[in-house]
Amino acid sequence: MKCVRCKAKPEVYLRAHNAAFCRGCYLEYFRRQVERAVRRQRMLAPTDRVLVAVSGGKDSLALWDVLAGLGYDTTGLYLAQGIGEYSGRSRQLVEAFAAARGFALQVVDFADEDGGMTVPDVAALTRRSPCAACGTLKRHYFDRAARDGGFDVLATGHNLDDEAARLLGNVLHWQRDHLARQRPVLEPNHPAFVRKVKPLYLLSEYETATYAFLRGIEYVVEECPNAAGATQLLYKDVLGRLEAASPGTKAGFVREFFRTGQPAFAAETTPATGTCERCGMPSFGEVCSHCALVGEIARKRTEPRRAVAP
Ligand code: SF4
Ligand SMILES: [Zn+2]
Ligand SMILES: [Zn+2]
Repeated sequence: MKCVRCKAKPEVYLRAHNAAFCRGCYLEYFRRQVERAVRRQRMLAPTDRVLVAVSGGKDSLALWDVLAGLGYDTTGLYLAQGIGEYSGRSRQLVEAFAAARGFALQVVDFADEDGGMTVPDVAALTRRSPCAACGTLKRHYFDRAARDGGFDVLATGHNLDDEAARLLGNVLHWQRDHLARQRPVLEPNHPAFVRKVKPLYLLSEYETATYAFLRGIEYVVEECPNAAGATQLLYKDVLGRLEAASPGTKAGFVREFFRTGQPAFAAETTPATGTCERCGMPSFGEVCSHCALVGEIARKRTEPRRAVAP
């Protein structure tokens, strides 16, 4: 087998595409795929200020690398969630990545927010699962940073495997409102929101890992310790088996959903969004889920500890 572009000795084989690439052609292929997704889905305008959500993982760092390489005005945003060694290591890698390239980086440290909002603390105080607490906090701080920084777009590194797993979960539970809002580009439905885009949505985890490796990007390989046992991983495992038996299944599943399924769900729902009276972000009630969580934490912290029976 030879590189499909230049006929040199290949280093990467993509089963879903039945194609092999040499190192240089693979990197070029990956960049072209991102460019194509951005153009076809009208994700970015040339003058947009793009906030890239970076976790320290391969996907988000690969995305930042490609977007900056394509000439976009990018700033990274890292959320320090306070999840033990995992957060320490991922922050270190993100800061090193940005410093080595001279990229602008913003860090939101959960420990400094509202008297301390690290994921383990919030989960323990409110008896929520760490991922439920984390999800509410992440959404809020991403949106706030994008709004306060005057960015036009928030870009995330969700890849094909993430989108396929999320789609499978949404379908298994027939979450119509989630299906209506699962798209590679989400236009703002509130003045405090910016456009949200996922330029890697058709590139697999394997493809982004290969890109990061070939570009010499050092990324955090371990999953967040709270991810163990998450249903998302089960869905990825099932989809991985389908993909192994029939290459291209994941791409077909996601691509066709975005082409025909998602517009049908979107047409039947009109989510009404109000404004949180405390922080000004979108909200379905008087206060948004983040401000409700902050209020709950404040109450828990001031409430006298219950006496424990001996
Ligand atoms: S696995 Fe859960 S706690 Fe960890 S980053 Fe993801 S949502 Fe947050
Ligand atoms: Zn080649
Ligand atoms: Zn709020």
